Amino acid sequence: MASPALLMRVVASAYSVAEKAATIVRNVMSAGDLGIVEKTGANDLQTKADRLVQMSICASLARKFPKVTIIGEELVIWVDPLDGTKEYTEGLLDHVTVLIGIAYGGKAIAGVINQPYYNYEAGASAVLGRTIWGVLGMGAFGFQLTEAPAGKHIIVTTRSHSSALVNDCISALNPDNVIRVGGAGNKIIQLIEGKASAYVFASPGCKKWDTCAPEAILHAVGGKITDIHGNSFQYNKEVKHMNSAGVLATLRNYDYYASRIPNTVKQSLVP
Ligand code: AMP
Ligand code: MG
Ligand code: MG
Repeated sequence: MASPALLMRVVASAYSVAEKAATIVRNVMSAGDLGIVEKTGANDLQTKADRLVQMSICASLARKFPKVTIIGEELVIWVDPLDGTKEYTEGLLDHVTVLIGIAYGGKAIAGVINQPYYNYEAGASAVLGRTIWGVLGMGAFGFQLTEAPAGKHIIVTTRSHSSALVNDCISALNPDNVIRVGGAGNKIIQLIEGKASAYVFASPGCKKWDTCAPEAILHAVGGKITDIHGNSFQYNKEVKHMNSAGVLATLRNYDYYASRIPNTVKQSLVP
């Protein structure tokens, strides 16, 4: 059983570890050598920042909580050292986030999203970066919860992993506007800050470490995230990493979007 005290210690550590990670993300970029590696040939990039942050987060959490990914029997920590790597390599810096998600009994219950370059267009004197965090049943902090424009359907989706299916699904929803940005963390930020009304991604590609922290934060403020069929995600340690049946997330009006996903799209995405 995860005690509230243990959970809050993990959240506090994740918060400070994510801030240290953000410094590494900024330092690698300023040093100028990103050390880019293409992992699968499908815009699946890894940089020196991904590698260093992964090591830093895992080492810190391992030191504080000796079993790292699993604490007690069922607490699992899902880490995306750098979400939005493609955008990071292209200088779209505010798309980038560091994600630390905490799951208990297979359910995302707490999360930290650090955005290392938040405020980067505000001038040299602006303080860079912010940390958003949330715990289910408690709320989410570090940002101003904002509703999307009423009566408008603004969809946020992938910028660098589009496909015919991704675009067909969006067209079927008749959006007023489509925002294409990188990162799963960044897209959840678009939802909770009222920039978009739904995150729609009818494709495999997104992993459990992309959705765990965002899910905890979105659910903590009353939103909902599932695959494109409406199945909730599981985060126990044995679960398949790939979210093969895509992502559908909203802060409000989940049913509006869920009920309009075409059957042809659903048939193409096997959970
Ligand atoms: P995106 O919205 O394209 O930034 O994707 C959100 C997250 O899912 C990022 O971590 C991506 O790397 C990952 N992702 C999405 N689609 C793919 C794909 N086709 N191949 C590899 N990773 C993907
Ligand atoms: Mg990612
Ligand atoms: Mg990543």
